[in-house]
Amino acid sequence: NNDGETIDYVYKVVVIGDSAVGKTQVLSRFTRNEFCLDSKSTIGVEFQTRTLTIKSKVIKAQIWDTAGQERYRAVTSAYYRGALGAMLVYDITKRESFDHVARWVEELRAHASNSIVIALIGNKVDLEDKRAVPSEDAVEFAKNQGLYFFETSALTGDNVEAAFCKLLEEIYCVA
Ligand code: GDP
Ligand code: MG
Repeated sequence: NNDGETIDYVYKVVVIGDSAVGKTQVLSRFTRNEFCLDSKSTIGVEFQTRTLTIKSKVIKAQIWDTAGQERYRAVTSAYYRGALGAMLVYDITKRESFDHVARWVEELRAHASNSIVIALIGNKVDLEDKRAVPSEDAVEFAKNQGLYFFETSALTGDNVEAAFCKLLEEIYCVA
């Protein structure tokens, strides 16, 4: 908790990806260290914040959640406006969610800033026995597109902190 501390930077980050890949849970793991097994899809665009220190700077991450619009490909350009970073999430147990990642990158290229830092997130690694997307496929895609890549579990918390911290650090370096 950084109450009373001076905030050096506020960074807007958007979380995108297909419905049900775990976007809301990854976000709640990062901002509140919570996971809710039967999370309901949220209504209306909203964001959560977390303040943390990166490279001796106090950074307030303002992280936006798509709130169900992903189903209708109706994420508006207002959602992307001013975003310095993006978490593009897929589900390692749902091949389709990975097949759609290229479309989400196109969305970003169309609506977001050219300098946006993108992290590709393969979520639900706790379900290794149901894996449908080999890590190597994502590593290759990420390399070709110039994205950072992490595999996470919002359930166990595995790698969630590392993924966000890397993204915020990178934003700090390019900003
Ligand atoms: P969203 O639509 O992308 O925001 O997805 P949610 O965060 O609402 O998660 C969709 C479903 O996947 C929910 O039932 C979550 O409990 C579940 N879920 C999310 N993250 C994980 C994870 O890391 N592991 C497992 N096993 N389930 C997860
Ligand atoms: Mg959600």
